[in-house]
Amino acid sequence: MEPQQRSPLLEVKGNIELKRPLAKAASRLPLSGRRLKRGPDQMEEALEPEKKRTRGLGTRVTTTHPRAAALNSAPQTQGQTAAVPRAPRKSAPRYSMAVAPVLKTQKPGPVVPAQKPGTTAAPPMVGGKKPKRPAWDLKGQLCDLNAELKCYRERKQVLDQENQQLQDQLREAKQQASVLGAERRTLEEELTRVRAQAEQGQRELGNLSARVLELEERLGTQEGLVQELQQEQLRLQEERRGLAAQLGEQERRLQTSEASLSDSQAEVASLRQAAAAREAVLAEREDRLHGLEMERRRLHNQLQELKGNIRVFCRVRPVLPGESTPSPGFLQFPSGPCGPSDPPTRLSLSRSDERRGTLSGAPAAPTRHDFSFDRVFPPGSGQDEVFEEISMLVQSALDGYPVCIFAYGQTGSGKTFTMEGGPGGDPRLEGLIPRALRHLFSVAQELRGQGWTYSFVASYVEIYNETVRDLLATGARKGQGGECEIRRAGPGSEELTVTNARYVPVSCEREVEALLHLARQNRAVARTAQNERSSRSHSVFQLQISGEHAGRGLQCAAPLSLVDLAGSERLDPGLALGPGERERLRETQAINSSLSTLGLVIMALSNKESHVPYRNSKLTYLLQNSLGGSAKMLMFVNISPLEENVSESLNSLRFASKVNQCVIGTAQANKK
Ligand code: ADP
Ligand code: MG
Repeated sequence: MEPQQRSPLLEVKGNIELKRPLAKAASRLPLSGRRLKRGPDQMEEALEPEKKRTRGLGTRVTTTHPRAAALNSAPQTQGQTAAVPRAPRKSAPRYSMAVAPVLKTQKPGPVVPAQKPGTTAAPPMVGGKKPKRPAWDLKGQLCDLNAELKCYRERKQVLDQENQQLQDQLREAKQQASVLGAERRTLEEELTRVRAQAEQGQRELGNLSARVLELEERLGTQEGLVQELQQEQLRLQEERRGLAAQLGEQERRLQTSEASLSDSQAEVASLRQAAAAREAVLAEREDRLHGLEMERRRLHNQLQELKGNIRVFCRVRPVLPGESTPSPGFLQFPSGPCGPSDPPTRLSLSRSDERRGTLSGAPAAPTRHDFSFDRVFPPGSGQDEVFEEISMLVQSALDGYPVCIFAYGQTGSGKTFTMEGGPGGDPRLEGLIPRALRHLFSVAQELRGQGWTYSFVASYVEIYNETVRDLLATGARKGQGGECEIRRAGPGSEELTVTNARYVPVSCEREVEALLHLARQNRAVARTAQNERSSRSHSVFQLQISGEHAGRGLQCAAPLSLVDLAGSERLDPGLALGPGERERLRETQAINSSLSTLGLVIMALSNKESHVPYRNSKLTYLLQNSLGGSAKMLMFVNISPLEENVSESLNSLRFASKVNQCVIGTAQANKK
């Protein structure tokens, strides 16, 4: 009976065994790259035939009538199992088909009682077919049927087990499918991510391509640049070579220079030593020089004092074109004791007095008037010659002694010519004022080398009818007069100042020229208002000189006054006194008064009187500091060469002589 029961089981087992490798293979699939690409659906499909097969098996098993199979297969398998233990699957249908007719044709008959022991045994097999029991052998048939039923029951049990196994397998397969589904989702996510990455990569690739293009372009530019730089480098290398050569040359020179420098340094050191020695000598010499300078000043002053603190120079102007030539011998200039080479100091004037006659009626012999002065300048004397004599006084002014120079004489005698100069700006005709200032500036410059620094402040005023007017006034004040007053610079101060007058610092000739020009303009304006006022007024040019020797703490200050006095002529007493003449008389009286005051002041000073009448006139008051004490005074008496002016000339000469005699002082004593 066993071979009959095993046949269907073997078939099912065979199916299961066929399916197992598939299941096993499926469990390994997720690891395969190819399976990844196929996706879970395809996996399902791949699994499907297996399932179908399994189902098919199930179907077949269920559709196959167990009884029929058992009925038909039993004898068949009995014979076949030994020869073909594992029949091909194709044979199964045939086996089933063989069973089917049996099931269809054989209707279950009436229940046959089971064959009891002692019944007839089953008939033997004839020609591979189960022998039919005789119809009467119901017991036998029943026995067969029982055997068959038992067989089926066993088979069912086996099939149930198999079914259970298959269901387990199915569950396992489903689990695998869900694992695979999860795997699939993961893979899909991964795929999405990979795609996104790919897209990102694509974009980046695009960007990179653009960047590559750009970089290529830049590379091209850079290459061009590199070429240029290379050329530049070549050029620079060339230049460097040149410079290196130059450097070498320079270094050689430097070495030479260094050598000569060290020589020079040694020389400098020795020179420094020598310089130090010289400096010591120089300092010593400077000291000596200073001592000598002070000695020079002292001696100079002594000399000036010996010459006389008040000196009188007489200057006779030449006869001008258009003027009548005086008779010969009218003016004579006798030579000095040393002959013609000696500068003249004497003048004689011959005057023929027509009122005086001889008894015979013949004209009386002219009266000779002799005058002696410190110096007499005949008509031919030049401005430079005149200045030479007074330059010593200018030096005294720089040395700190007040100096006052007057020009005295009648109108037209050459006072202004002497003080300011001739017309036309001819340098040869320059007067005392520009020459004195030039000399001052140049001597001050020389003294600068000895440590003296000088400063100069100029003022220029006019005294008319006892009123003071600024000749340096500018703008609206030009030509106006009367608003200036002479005042002390401060309470207790000896210095005098003119209120409302300009005091202009000067340092060069050009500035002085400008001031003189301005003064001339101011006089011209006044002249239009008052006829010939300039000759009726005193012009006072004053220069305040201040010197300082900072190194030795020495100071000196003195005024230099250059005065162009008003015409000294007297008013003709025979003239009828009209309104103009009365004015003229007042002017003349004022002039005469101031001039006589000047004479009185000079006399009082020379006589060393306790009271000096400075205040009696504006002129003497203004010149107060330039006249007294150690002041040096020089008076030019200007004389007209004309015979018609003889009377005024005599007056002037007499006044000057008086001054000369009165104040000869020490000089006179030494002269003797
Ligand atoms: P004052 O000022 O005394 O009135 P000026 O100086 O005006 O006299 O002189 C009168 C004229 O005589 C002027 O034309 C001037 O140029 C001339 N004069 C004066 N002195 C001389 C001189 N030494 N040489 C040449 N001309 C002179
Ligand atoms: Mg004049």
